[in-house]
Formats: sequence, structure tokens, C-alpha cells
Amino acid sequence: MERFDVIVVGAGPAGCMSAIKAAEQGRKVLLIEKNSEIGKKLLLTGNKRGNITNLENIDTFITKYHNGRFLRNAFARFFNEDLIEFFESNGLPLKVERGNRVYPESDNASDIAAFLNKLLKKTGVKVFFKRRVYGIIKKENYFEVIMSGGKRYYGDKVVIACGGKSFPSTGSDGSGYKLSEKLGHTIIKPVPALCGIEVEERHLTKRCAGLSLKNVRVSAFLKDKEIGEEFGEVLFTHYGFSGPAVLNISGDISENIDKGKVSLSINLKPALSYQQLESRFLREIDDNANKQLKNMMRVILPSGMIDIFLEYTKIDGEKRVNQITANERKKMIEALLNFSFIVKGVRPFEDSMVTRGGVSVKEINPKTMESRIVPGLFFAGEVIDIDGKTGGYNLQSAFTTGYIAGVSI
Ligand SMILES: Cc1cc2nc3c(=O)[nH]c(=O)nc-3n(C[C@H](O)[C@H](O)[C@H](O)COP(=O)(O)OP(=O)(O)OC[C@H]3O[C@@H](n4cnc5c(N)ncnc54)[C@H](O)[C@@H]3O)c2cc1C
Repeated sequence: MERFDVIVVGAGPAGCMSAIKAAEQGRKVLLIEKNSEIGKKLLLTGNKRGNITNLENIDTFITKYHNGRFLRNAFARFFNEDLIEFFESNGLPLKVERGNRVYPESDNASDIAAFLNKLLKKTGVKVFFKRRVYGIIKKENYFEVIMSGGKRYYGDKVVIACGGKSFPSTGSDGSGYKLSEKLGHTIIKPVPALCGIEVEERHLTKRCAGLSLKNVRVSAFLKDKEIGEEFGEVLFTHYGFSGPAVLNISGDISENIDKGKVSLSINLKPALSYQQLESRFLREIDDNANKQLKNMMRVILPSGMIDIFLEYTKIDGEKRVNQITANERKKMIEALLNFSFIVKGVRPFEDSMVTRGGVSVKEINPKTMESRIVPGLFFAGEVIDIDGKTGGYNLQSAFTTGYIAGVSI
């Protein structure tokens, strides 16, 4: 019977970090991964450039997550600068880009995986590839870990770091939830996050597919209640909308989609009030009295979306500007401030970057990542009910929770 001090399930960033940190403390560690390599999802991050963290301060950082408060204590012990130091002092130089995002200087996410591989070897972690963990059974003072083929290994402590359900082709197929549930944990329903939003009016959005709107404000509503808001870039797609601002509120939409009518509203002119827009319109109307409306609109909107905007407002774009009624002007101003769509759904897990939901944070000690239900069981990474916005937040939380679990064992 081969026995380990620690068995870590899943060799993503969270699992690798906890295995390395536990081994650095002299523990005999086994890391089990069902793929034939570590960090398959990690390789895709940041457009394969690996946006590993962000330089924001802790207070701002925790606002970027669903359940961010759970991370405060962990961040106080291992935060962005510690992660940067961890990489750079071990030979992986990093750089900072727009939006305080941190990447490897090489622009290559595979360098992060190679780096983790090197440290796993250096710290003596035993790694099994192409083995899937099917079951974890708690015995009196150890765990029995059952793998594909029925083989069993034994560990005094276990870390579940299996990731979420998104991009299942990378290995994270939700099996961490099943393992955790069988051990008595509550799983908050997993839903896709950081994904595109499908709308009923896709006959309009698909005509602008590929067009991106910068500096707009996008809000999501459940009936009349605002459930999410974001400023930034929105992209029209054949199914609805994507782009960073939409990705960042997609988790809020996912969570609420079964609760009632959800709508998505884009404020195309967030810097202007109704009155300011009206003055702008009146000026343009004066200057362009004999032009067709659709031509005048070119100074107000990107030309690629004028047709659908006018169709949305049901105003004839062929009309001369001096024929526009006060009511039509009002309609257009309102539509600029509230370009609104009915949400049909969110993109599937296959297209979502992260998962909202997972092991309830109420059942995990935030200072150690140890289960409050099963002593000796730890969690790290996206398997926990935590998800962040784009910008390096998800990798930082995976590395931080991995670190805390590893040093707490
Ligand atoms: C396209 C894309 C781009 C992204 N870009 C960024 C980015 O730039 N910055 C950022 O911060 N985040 C990004 N993310 C999110 C980030 O990659 C994840 O949040 C992060 O990888 C989660 O780490 P993890 O270790 O918890 O899980 P994962 O990386 O999902 O790793 C879990 C591992 O567990 C293994 N596993 C699962 N079940 C079992 C089992 N039963 N037995 C054995 N092994 C198992 C899986 O094969 C997998 O290797 C991106 C995600 C995607 C999909």
C-alpha cells in the first residue's frame, strides 16, 4: 500500500501550486492528472500569453470576484506581488501591460507550464498523468483515492483542485464537484461565466457581427432590478453579444437566467446625459437639415450599426433630417442611452472561460482552504465557488488558494 502525506487531484495552476508548496515543506506528495500534461487550460490563457495576475490593490481585487470576500485573508498572505516574486525569483521574468495585467515577458503561456513542471521536479512531487480520480473515501485518519483502472492510493491529506466545468476539453469536466459532493460538500449550481450572451434579437446583432463598441456601459436586469453593470468594450456576434464588458457580467446573467425575464441594456453614450444628447441632436439636425437621417447618424454611431439602430427604433433612415419629429428624436436619444435586448441565454460551458458555482465557500476555512466538514480535505482553484473577471484574476485566485492549501497541510 503506497501511502503519501498529500494527494493532490488535478494539475492545473491551483493543484501544481499546492503540490509544490506542500513538497517544499517536506511532505511526500502525489499529484494526479487525467491529461497527459499539466495545465492544459493554462496554456490557453490570455490568448496563449498567460495573463497571470493584475497589479490592482487588494481592496479593488476582491471586488472583481463573485465571493471575493472569501479571498481577502488568503490574499493578505499570498497576493499579486508574492506571485510575481515566486515566478521571477525562480527564473520566469514577467511584464506589465495595459490594465495592469501581468504576463510572462516571453508572451508565452507554455513558459508558465514549463516553469511549474520544473518546480514539481525540483521539489520531488510524484506526478501521475493519464489517471482520472473516480472516488475519494475518507477513512479514519487518511483518504483512499481511487483511480481509473481501480488502482488505489492512500494519502493523509487530499487537495481537490479539479477546476470547474468550462472548456471541458482541457480536462475540467466537473468531476471535482462530484468528488466533493460525495464527501458531503454542498455544490452551488455551476453555470457558465466569462461567456457570450445570446439575445432574442439576434436577427439584428448578427448583421453587425464583428463590430466592436468601445467605452460603452452595459447593464443586465432581472425584470427591473439591475444585476450587473460594466464599462468597456462590447462586441456584436451572430448570437448576440460578447467582448470584455459582456463577459464580465455574464456570470451575473447566468445566475439569474432561470429566475425571470433578463435583459441587456447598452448605453452607447455613457458620458452624456439626456439633455446633452438632445442638444447634440438639435445641433446636428440644424447642420444637416437636408441630409438623409441615415447619413447624419454617421457622426453619432459607427456606420456599421446605423441600419440596425434605425430598425430597432423603427424610424425610416431614408427620411430627410428636417422631417424628423420631436417624438422620433426622443426615441433615438432613449435608444442611444438604453439600447436594450431580451436575453435568451448564455453560451454553453464549452465556450465559457470560467464556471460560477462550485464547492460552497461557507464550508471551507478561508485561512487554510481546509474543509469545515471533512478534516484533512482541502480545496484549491476554480472548483471552489469563486470566479473573477477578465484581467488575470482567475489565475491569481487559483495560485493563491493553491498556495494556502499547500502551506496549510
Ligand atoms: C480560453 C481561456 C482563457 C483564459 N484566460 C485567462 C487569463 O488570461 N487569466 C486568468 O486569470 N484566467 C484565465 N482563464 C481562467 C483560468 O484558466 C482558470 O480559472 C484556471 O485555469 C483555474 O485553475 P484550476 O487549477 O483551478 O483548474 P484547471 O486549470 O481547470 O485545472 C484542473 C485540472 O484538473 C484535472 N482534473 C479534473 N478532474 C480530474 C480528475 N477527476 N482526476 C484527475 N485530474 C482531474 C484537469 O484535467 C485539469 O488539468 C482562462 C480560461 C480559458 C478557458
